[in-house]
Amino acid sequence: MLSGGKDSTALALYMRDKYPDIEMEYLFTDTHKELPETYEYLTKIEAYLGKPVHRVSSKKGERGFDHFLKMFRGFLPSPQARWCTKELKIKPFERFVGDEPVKLYVGIRADEKRDGYISTKPNITPVFPFKEDGVTKEDVMRILDESGVGMPGYYSWRSRSGCYFCFYQRKSEWVGLKERHPDLFESAKSYERIDEGYTWVEKESLIDIEKPERMLQIVEREAIRIARNEANRGPRTLAEIFTGEIGDDDDDQGGCLICHL
Ligand code: SF4
Repeated sequence: MLSGGKDSTALALYMRDKYPDIEMEYLFTDTHKELPETYEYLTKIEAYLGKPVHRVSSKKGERGFDHFLKMFRGFLPSPQARWCTKELKIKPFERFVGDEPVKLYVGIRADEKRDGYISTKPNITPVFPFKEDGVTKEDVMRILDESGVGMPGYYSWRSRSGCYFCFYQRKSEWVGLKERHPDLFESAKSYERIDEGYTWVEKESLIDIEKPERMLQIVEREAIRIARNEANRGPRTLAEIFTGEIGDDDDDQGGCLICHL
């Protein structure tokens, strides 16, 4: 399953090259709320793989995020109540797969401590080739670089794939969204119901975040955080310098194991 992120993309390329005899199918579960860069990246990936990436939606897109938001009475998803992943990622995927025995290749790397999404369906067996083969973040970047696919376009300002309003993004990434995609930032804002406490960021609305003085403060704090991380972990690798990676390991921490690989 592809998320439009670097690890799942590198895994698709890795499997094609290392295990050419395995018949792969590529799948992207589309919330219809992804970043434009993600859709562009998927088109690029298809060209490099020479195979289509199936775009799977909840009931052919008829029941996207907005439909489920109504069902949940405007209650925005959050890390504690992640109904979006269940309704827009897991269920469409499991419906697509049906009851045939399949292997699900998951791009969790050998240098990560996370476990993968484990389906409750007994016919879906997860496989972790990067973990089994010792493939690390540096290897992933090399695979993407050498293949010519490169990094996703959003990677200079955001560490993860997923919906433009994803509640897992850092405050600095909300600032990035405001600067790069002001229309999407406005759209994200329109989902908030501040009086009822429904905001994407805990205890802070996007109206507050977009205030110039607050944006400046967020950017400055992020610069300090990155500098501290860099000082703690030593110099960057060449791969990170060439890909312009933003310089933290945010994508290794938490996040959604379906949306952010
Ligand atoms: S990317 Fe974020 S908001 Fe979108 S489905 Fe995944 S967890 Fe939910």
